[in-house]
Amino acid sequence: MNQHMRPEPVAFIDIGAQRRRLGSKIDDAVSRVLTHCQFINGPEVTQLEADLAAFCGAKHVVACASGTDALLMVLMAQGVGPGDAVICPSFTFCATGEVVALTGATPVFVDVDEATFNIDIVSLKVGIGTARKLGLKVKAVIPVDLFGQSADHDAIGKVAKSEGLFVLDDAAQAFGATYKGRRLGTFGLATATSFFPAKPLGCFGDGGAIFTDDADLAERLRSVRVHGQGSEKYDNVRLGLTARLDTMQAAILIEKLKIFEDEIAARNRVASRYSDTLGDIVTVPNVTAGNTSVWAQYTIRLPNSAKRDVFADALKAQGIPTAIYYPKSMHQQTAYKHYPVAEGGLPVSEKLSQDVISLPMHAYLDPAAQDRVIKAVCDAVS
Ligand SMILES: *Cc1c(COP(=O)(O)O)cnc(C)c1O
Repeated sequence: MNQHMRPEPVAFIDIGAQRRRLGSKIDDAVSRVLTHCQFINGPEVTQLEADLAAFCGAKHVVACASGTDALLMVLMAQGVGPGDAVICPSFTFCATGEVVALTGATPVFVDVDEATFNIDIVSLKVGIGTARKLGLKVKAVIPVDLFGQSADHDAIGKVAKSEGLFVLDDAAQAFGATYKGRRLGTFGLATATSFFPAKPLGCFGDGGAIFTDDADLAERLRSVRVHGQGSEKYDNVRLGLTARLDTMQAAILIEKLKIFEDEIAARNRVASRYSDTLGDIVTVPNVTAGNTSVWAQYTIRLPNSAKRDVFADALKAQGIPTAIYYPKSMHQQTAYKHYPVAEGGLPVSEKLSQDVISLPMHAYLDPAAQDRVIKAVCDAVS
């Protein structure tokens, strides 16, 4: 019972509602694994890889232990290391640049586009120049499909091709989204995604996957996933990781993937309703024509006059949680301050870090809860 007679807070994300919808399907899937006991590389892992490939159209799928490992494994399999530079947007979750630094290479941060929050093509070109002036060999770019919307993959691919870089797409927040009618997972050399529970397609722990059409890369990734093993189990041919996806998580994901399209549609209904009602009072997300989003976040920008912390407190008082992704861009964080940024700085990333705020978003946000969010936002900015 709520002692103050206030309605229950709205859920920022709601994993419980999905669990109820799936009923005994998850329990049954888990108990099948408990019966066959192949906890590592069980049949569900292979099944999930096939299901994910069919879903997005990629030729090869390598399931792994997390989205971070997915990114790192591609860099390792491509031999990225000291003396190399990898271009990353600064306005992203830290894993995007972290994996570059972990290989010993240098992340070079570039700015994002103010309308889409995704990598800015002009800044990408500037950043490549900056890296070369520093004597680094520019190997790759990691565009991020932030908050569920695809980056501009045609434009990125064009720059990468002319500059001799490979593209590793960080689709940790956007698996299921489309760019010009094609699902993510099929752009660039490889795509990484995450199945962290809060992502649009999440498991019940950590998980991730890599997508590629390159058969040789897929084989190297399968080796990196298990300590760099070669064809003989105890003759390891490269450095690798313990980066397998648990069979249990694969079994859960197989069931969740079956309802994923329907959930994406539900997220889009929530987003449309928010945008229709809030578009005049705050800056609502901008989905580029030809793109679809899976709405990992519904992120608004407040009018100049509105103080973000006051706004968040006003919503919280109405039982509406908010979150800030990201209060500091990567180049502003202690661990990454010393890495280079594109010449001229990253003004858009810095501005976004000051004025973005994300509203509750999930597939099970019913109209009554949506109304509460909408009303609280209107009250807070008026
Ligand atoms: C979540 C996320 C990752 C990392 O995924 P984990 O599964 O948490 O390791 C990488 N990049 C972006 C953009 C993310 O949002």
